[in-house]
Amino acid sequence: MDFETIVSKIKEKANLTEEEINRKVIEKQQELSNLVSKEGAAYIIAKELGLDIFPKTKRRLEIKNVLPKLRNLNLTARVVKVFDPKQFKKKDKMGKVATVILGDSSGTIRMSLWDAQTEIVEKLKPDMPVEVFGAYTKENGLGGVEIRLGNKGGIKVLESSDIPPLGSLKEKDLSRKTISDLKEGDMGEIRAAVVQLFETSVFYDICPKCELRINKADNKFKCNEHGEVEPKKTIVLSGVIDDGTGNIRAVFFRDVALKLIGMDIDEALKRRDSFFENLDVLGKEFIMFGKIRRNVAFNRLEFVANDIKEVDVEKEINEIINNLTTNV
Ligand SMILES: [Zn+2]
Repeated sequence: MDFETIVSKIKEKANLTEEEINRKVIEKQQELSNLVSKEGAAYIIAKELGLDIFPKTKRRLEIKNVLPKLRNLNLTARVVKVFDPKQFKKKDKMGKVATVILGDSSGTIRMSLWDAQTEIVEKLKPDMPVEVFGAYTKENGLGGVEIRLGNKGGIKVLESSDIPPLGSLKEKDLSRKTISDLKEGDMGEIRAAVVQLFETSVFYDICPKCELRINKADNKFKCNEHGEVEPKKTIVLSGVIDDGTGNIRAVFFRDVALKLIGMDIDEALKRRDSFFENLDVLGKEFIMFGKIRRNVAFNRLEFVANDIKEVDVEKEINEIINNLTTNV
């Protein structure tokens, strides 16, 4: 900023004439034994007057700094992955939920969109720079933070962005990985078999509106946000997965857990008394997309699956052949 600009800003904000400002500048220079320039002196005066004349350098919020319970969140990021919207039954009507993974070079975060909001995902493609506005965050019950859109919120596709394209990040962080080189915070795809399932309690209750976990108190189910509700049942499964390079504990929540056992929630509920009997899971291979997090309570790493699919052997072989021919 040159001297004239600073003076005109001071004039505008401090109700001083140009002469008064010039005089203050000279006085300030004299006070400082003429060691500062006119611009420097004008800056100091502005600061002493408590004026906010410096352009704010807007720093982008990095994803790793997105915490739970933020309001009016505005975030620019790139789309990492878009999951197709899923329908679910909500009392007498159908509800819809879609998940988008957003990322920047600091990390990735889940965003879930509900009902009419899910239409937005149709225009989203991996690597697109987007601006999420009017959003808020909450703990998602999957051990992480999740972004939701408020009533006036939305996602704007940006023409360009200084966030580096995920291409490089993708190769580094999101491509197929092996269990032996998974590190805390990594997100990516592995191909692994379920070698053990822990026979822990499987079913739990969630609020039908926000899908957060709720507990029974005084014979009632109460959601902090939605009050007394008729809970929805869902499941969580944990076990050990192995890909030949190593093994790791893995957690499967909700739809992902149901996919793992190949059932819907009603089928799962029917067999709740002998849930682990004759489950067709052990030894089965899946492509699993997820994130490595540290389980703080037990101080160990675990893989939290965001999505899984059964291994399509033919497609896998074709991919391997393609890689061989392109790499040779
Ligand atoms: Zn709720």
